Amino acid sequence: MKALSQAWLAELNLSPLWRAGKDAGATENSGIVAPASLPATVDNKLRQGIHNRGYLPHLKAEGGIYFVTFRLADSLPQSVLNEMKHILPEARSKQIETYLDAGHGECVLRNPEIAQMMVQALKQFDGERYVLHDWVVMPNHVHLLIEPRGEHDLSDILHSLKSYTATEANRCLGRHGVFWQHESYDRLIRDQDEFNRCVYYVQQNPVRAHLAVAPEQYAFGRAGFVAGKDAGATVKRLSVAPASLPATVDDMDWPQLKQAVAACTLCPLHEKRTQAVFGVGDEQADWLFVGEGPGAEEDLQGEPFVGQAGKLLDNMLASIALKRGEKVYIANVVKCRPPGNRNPEPVEAAACAPFLDRQIELIAPKLIVALGKVAAVRLLGRDASIASLRGQLLRYRDTPLIITYHPAYLLRNLADKAKAWEDLCFIRRTMQDLQTARLAPI
Ligand code: SF4
Repeated sequence: MKALSQAWLAELNLSPLWRAGKDAGATENSGIVAPASLPATVDNKLRQGIHNRGYLPHLKAEGGIYFVTFRLADSLPQSVLNEMKHILPEARSKQIETYLDAGHGECVLRNPEIAQMMVQALKQFDGERYVLHDWVVMPNHVHLLIEPRGEHDLSDILHSLKSYTATEANRCLGRHGVFWQHESYDRLIRDQDEFNRCVYYVQQNPVRAHLAVAPEQYAFGRAGFVAGKDAGATVKRLSVAPASLPATVDDMDWPQLKQAVAACTLCPLHEKRTQAVFGVGDEQADWLFVGEGPGAEEDLQGEPFVGQAGKLLDNMLASIALKRGEKVYIANVVKCRPPGNRNPEPVEAAACAPFLDRQIELIAPKLIVALGKVAAVRLLGRDASIASLRGQLLRYRDTPLIITYHPAYLLRNLADKAKAWEDLCFIRRTMQDLQTARLAPI
């Protein structure tokens, strides 16, 4: 075991260890950003070892600082993990974070009472059993930068924290059952740079997830907690975002939503975009057409469906007496261009989902037309072929939904234009029925 341990440590380049000095931690009142003066020191007194939970080996370094994530039981379904299993570990953890930030599952940590209980539990032994260098309670997960103290072991700290908060949260919700996912993710921080990156990551998490426009405006993170204390406020008073700020995407109006999309960095697609492509048209349209994502031309012009596919869409609209911008709104599943015009990854579509959902809520269209498989799968929430979905009146939440081909597909497959024409006739008939109330509201 000893030889194995040393091999692991050498492989992971964990000797010498970095450690924050006694006075180096970002204390509760030391401001929002971690001190930049932490020395990259070697502390030979630190001991390292293997922390084995029976199935996965974890490294343990006494006196070390860990970046820890634990998440709600329903936040990351096994089916999503299965989809990601062939991705390299680093890319996979990014995709997992993106998925979590998109707010999947019931997100019961959104409940201010439960989030506040979580904050109080975190603070309970801060400075005694551990030092919390930074932390944030997100709607479906928690991040910590934590340094266990004395004889207190990280896994014991997490076990007791998760067990206590699960019981309290279940009591608050009036139910029983698994609250947290069994496993927590933890990583030993190796140097000053990594520490600073983690602090930034933790503090920006609510901003990336559109829960606040600045870290100090999010009540359930250290930055907001400190800001609240500095202002003489209690966590409870901060539990609702200031009136001028929407708490979530679900509460945004059109200008706020446009601003959030333009500034969004939630998924990797932001890295290569010229600009985010929000959507275009009548914001009280009866008709909503949804495509998959911007292409090269759309990325440059900032408008969906321009270029050849856009012209064909305009012709399709004209064939049923519609015109872009007049009672018609056009949007995409993802707002930023996937490189090389590839389809958006499921995790990218999931990250962008709150924006499209809110657009649909604000428009409240009578009928949605999904153009192509990516839009169909996103709006239906299940996988199926276009062939099997055409010609049916489906639903997105309570709104009638019809599936047809994407114009870019029709440009490559001229033979299917006749089928697209059938779909357009069905779309037109359905709208007439909806308008004359021959179709009962769904
Ligand atoms: Fe944000 Fe959507 Fe753009 Fe991804 S595609 S960066 S989630 S706006």
